[in-house]
Amino acid sequence: MSLPQPRPEVAGLPAYVPGARGDADRLPPVKLSSNEIPYPPLPSVARAIARVGDGIHRYPDMQASELHARLGERFGVGAERVAVGGGSVAVLQHILQAFAGPGDEVLFAWRSFEAYPILTSIAGATPVMVPLTADGRHDIDAMAAAVTDRTRVAMLCSPNNPTGPTLTRDEFARFMAAVPRSLLVVLDEAYVEFVRDADAVAGLEELERHPNLLVLRTFSKAYGLAGARVGFALGPVELITPVRACVTPFSVSSTAQAAAMASLEPVAEAELLERVDAVVAERPRLREGLRALGWDVPEAQGNFVWLPAGERTVEIAVALAALEPAVLVRPFAGEGIRVTVGSAVENDAVLAAMEAHRGA
Ligand SMILES: *Cc1c(COP(=O)(O)O)cnc(C)c1O
Repeated sequence: MSLPQPRPEVAGLPAYVPGARGDADRLPPVKLSSNEIPYPPLPSVARAIARVGDGIHRYPDMQASELHARLGERFGVGAERVAVGGGSVAVLQHILQAFAGPGDEVLFAWRSFEAYPILTSIAGATPVMVPLTADGRHDIDAMAAAVTDRTRVAMLCSPNNPTGPTLTRDEFARFMAAVPRSLLVVLDEAYVEFVRDADAVAGLEELERHPNLLVLRTFSKAYGLAGARVGFALGPVELITPVRACVTPFSVSSTAQAAAMASLEPVAEAELLERVDAVVAERPRLREGLRALGWDVPEAQGNFVWLPAGERTVEIAVALAALEPAVLVRPFAGEGIRVTVGSAVENDAVLAAMEAHRGA
C-alpha cells in the first residue's frame, strides 16, 4: 500500500526560500537578506511583549477585536473593514482561499513576491505570471490584457519585491479601468511606509474609489515586527467578511497582538516612522554607490535595492557570504540579487564588498 499522497499541486510546490541566516560559529553577519528593519524593538514594544508572557497560558482574543478597532481608527475605516492575520502572507492565503479555487486564474507580475505562486497553487488555482518590464516595473497593459473570464484575483505589488519600483497612480487607474468589477484586485503595500514618490499609488485613497480592491499591509517591515507575525488587509466589508471567515482561529498570538498595539501608540509609531526615515535617507547612497560600480539598479522605493546580476547572481552571493563577517543578501539564481537597505555601517559593508564585483 502506498503512503498518503498530497494533492498534486502541493507535491509540485517549490519550497519558499527564506533569506539566509547567520552561522553560530562566525561573527554576526551583515544580514540584508529579508528586508527587515536594522533596529531592535522599541523598549515600549519589548515591555508590552514581556507583559503578555505572564498570561500566555490563556488563549488570545480570538477576534483580535482591540487590534481590529485600533487599525480601523488608525486608517479611518471601521473595524469591520480590517482583517488581521498571522503575517500579511497568511492574510493573502486567506484571501485566496476565500476567492479562488481549482479552475480559477490568479494574475500577478513576475518576478514579484515569491509567496504569490506558492499560495496560488495551494489554493488549487492557476498562477498567470506576466513578465516585468526591463526596468523592473509592472507591465500594466500586458497584465490587463491577460485577464480572462477565469481570472478571479489580480495581485499588484507596490513597491515591487524584489525589483523596487512602485506602481504610479496612472498605471493603477489604467489597470482598474480595464478590468471588470468582478475581479478582486489585491494591492500589496508591504513597503508603503518607505515610499517617497508622490506619483506612487496610495492604496488607502484608492479604497474609496474601487469596491473590488483589498489593500494588504504588514507590521513586519517598517514596524520592525517580522518575528511577531502580524499583518492585515483593508477593504470593503463585502470583501473583508469572507476573508475573516477563512482566518485560522487564534492565528494572531497574544504576543503579536500586544506588539502591534504597542507599535500603534502615537509616540511609538512616530519613533518607528523616524527609523523608516533613516532607512530612506540611506537608500540613495546604497543605490548610487552600486550604480557607480556599474550596476543598473532600478528605482528603489522599498527598503531594498535590486542588482540585475543575471548569470553572476549565485557566484556573487556566495562570495559575499564567505566574507568575515558574512554579507547576506537574497539571490534569485540567474536573475539578480536583492539587497536590503540596512544601517549606514551595513550599507558601507555592502558597497565595500561589491568593489570586487563590478557591473557591466
Ligand atoms: C515581506 C513582504 C510581505 C510581508 O509578509 P509578512 O507575512 O507580513 O511578514 C508581504 N508582501 C511582500 C511583497 C513582502 O515583501
